[in-house]
Amino acid sequence: MKKYSTCAVLAGCLMLLLQTGCSSDVPETVPVKAVKVVKPSPDGVKAMLTEGNLRFVSGASTYPHQDALRLSQAGSEDQGDHAYATVIACSDSRVPVELIFDAGVMDLFVVRVAGNVCDTDEVGSIEYGLSHVNTPLMVVLGHTQCGAVTAVTHAVHGEGHRLERNIPPLVDNIIPAVKRAMADHPGIHGDAIIPYAIEANVWQGVEDLFMKSPSTRTLVKQGKAKVVGAIYDVSTGSVSWLPDTRVDEILAQVEASVVDVLTRAEASPEMAASPETETPVSAH
Ligand SMILES: [Zn+2]
Repeated sequence: MKKYSTCAVLAGCLMLLLQTGCSSDVPETVPVKAVKVVKPSPDGVKAMLTEGNLRFVSGASTYPHQDALRLSQAGSEDQGDHAYATVIACSDSRVPVELIFDAGVMDLFVVRVAGNVCDTDEVGSIEYGLSHVNTPLMVVLGHTQCGAVTAVTHAVHGEGHRLERNIPPLVDNIIPAVKRAMADHPGIHGDAIIPYAIEANVWQGVEDLFMKSPSTRTLVKQGKAKVVGAIYDVSTGSVSWLPDTRVDEILAQVEASVVDVLTRAEASPEMAASPETETPVSAH
């Protein structure tokens, strides 16, 4: 009984100290229970990224979340309570993702790979960013002057050169994007097609992501996450968002093709694919 009374007195003293705000008497290490952070909506995150990029372009970056307090948070808190966007971008040294969005530590879950391709490892990383780090927005970020898209365009034009062993299987996701850009713009020849191929490669990434990731499709259909495409201009530092309507179209096409695959699998059981490993088929 005495023990409970002592506890009650101590708790009362602590309450009094907290209520009076007497900072000189309050120990600096009073534990404060972490409050679950409510993240912004997908469109709210897109607005945050837009504002951060505008600060970067105009030389007004604030370099947030890069101090000792943030590092302390990073070491003691769940990144899932803080990071607000997953971004897949090219490895190109001209595309430093946190810098171009004026973001800091524990703000962005970033996947970087040459040509910002969405193959199995990249899609697995994106699924982690969406389902475990709980980011409301997923950005497929292409960039101007992309060397990977340029190399594949040259190869498709028959002007390719010998590549190291592991590069062809890395960039083979870009081939259909280049061919689609050429088919959509038959009057454009040579390297002039590269900017169109860069945009087509963003859409290819969105398609590959949706095709390989049922969980991503589900999050998007439920409105819990949004996938967007964008192009970063290495000359100006500016990010241009691509139309959301195109993402909606690709999702609908992928959904239809997956249903088609499953229907055919039912007709021919030997073709059956696991729901989590659906056979990739071009949605175009
Ligand atoms: Zn690139």
